[in-house]
Amino acid sequence: MATATLNPTATSIPGRFGAYGGRYVPETLMAALLELDEAYADADADPAFHAELDELLHHYCGRPTALYYAKRLSETLGGAKIYLKREDLLHTGAHKINNALGQGLLARRMGKKRIIAETGAGQHGVATATVCALLGLECVIYMGEEDMRRQELNVYRMRLLGAEVRGVNGGSATLKDAINEAMRDWVTNVRETYYILGSALGSHPYPTMVRNFHRVISLESKQQILEQEGRLPDAIVACVGGGSNAIGAFYEYIPDANVQLIGVEAGGRGTALGEHAARFQKVGGGVPGVLQGTYSYVLQDDAGQVASTHSVSAGLDYASVGPEHAMLHDSGRATYVSCSDEDALKAVVTLSRTEGILPAIESAHAVAEAVRLAPLMGKDKIIMVNLSGRGDKDMGILARELDLKGASPITPKGSL
Ligand SMILES: *Cc1c(COP(=O)(O)O)cnc(C)c1O
Repeated sequence: MATATLNPTATSIPGRFGAYGGRYVPETLMAALLELDEAYADADADPAFHAELDELLHHYCGRPTALYYAKRLSETLGGAKIYLKREDLLHTGAHKINNALGQGLLARRMGKKRIIAETGAGQHGVATATVCALLGLECVIYMGEEDMRRQELNVYRMRLLGAEVRGVNGGSATLKDAINEAMRDWVTNVRETYYILGSALGSHPYPTMVRNFHRVISLESKQQILEQEGRLPDAIVACVGGGSNAIGAFYEYIPDANVQLIGVEAGGRGTALGEHAARFQKVGGGVPGVLQGTYSYVLQDDAGQVASTHSVSAGLDYASVGPEHAMLHDSGRATYVSCSDEDALKAVVTLSRTEGILPAIESAHAVAEAVRLAPLMGKDKIIMVNLSGRGDKDMGILARELDLKGASPITPKGSL
């Protein structure tokens, strides 16, 4: 069953999204991926597994999250109505807990007592450390030392929750290097260790499994918008790092051809390779290739070396993207745009000032696209933004990037 997924041209077999996805791992990890594949299929078919997950998503995490009509923001922009799907209200402050909890329950079901995970901005690390505390599992988090410096607060949060945080020094000492180190650990300790991957990335079954754990976002939002507006939105906008919040927000609408799906990548500080993380950008963007176990778009130089990336938001700062997005991109079902560091920071201020909601800088990339789009659309149109997380974690960066210490309110150029 599994080896068939190695055929790069097959289109409709498990683990493939068109030509993308698959399993590109050393032989030593194949057995672990096959064990995971089987265990996940078994859990997914078990109503008791879903009952426990749903119960915890409700009472522990705070689902369903609100679908909020941002009236002041919409009226100020003077175009389409903007709705926010409030994943920022979840326990630990972002959508990441949907997936960490699902995989944590799966690990316990598989009898694994030791959890490892990678983290960039620290949000997935915090969500994983939280779930391990809840379920009584040992927890080791790999994090690049550069990211540990940038996101010091989240390092303390993870340690307080009982996790061991291991700094990774190799490469650029960021997310990619943390994933490499977590994979090394998994190869060595595979028998008792479960690897909770934090986005819709990596080898099969991760992209499918992670998407399914976030699918609840669009299952809820579809019901909510039908209750509140009596119809589906015209567009759904979500930021795309690895792509987990976006695929969760898009998934239930994929068959609804009239709903535009818009992913927003990190445009960073310019369009040249190395200055951004916009894998789908036409010039200076990514081309298909294999990185960390999956075939997808990868930012790389002419020699196939993985390019460095830049974004003001650590959560969007990755050279590749989930393989399902690569398929949605090529088929044209979803559109991918990018938003610069500067416009994302402006959108943080705009949403804070008009609605009293302080978004994560990652989520602000999606807000910025809605701010750009809404005035171009009629007042009878609806845009839904997936607000993936809250901005508390970003106070240090915001304090550096915006002049928050001045006596008068900051008004970055062009913001409301
Ligand atoms: C991690 C993170 C992201 C990016 O990850 P995806 O897998 O692309 O969703 C976006 N927003 C927030 C708040 C995050 O913590």
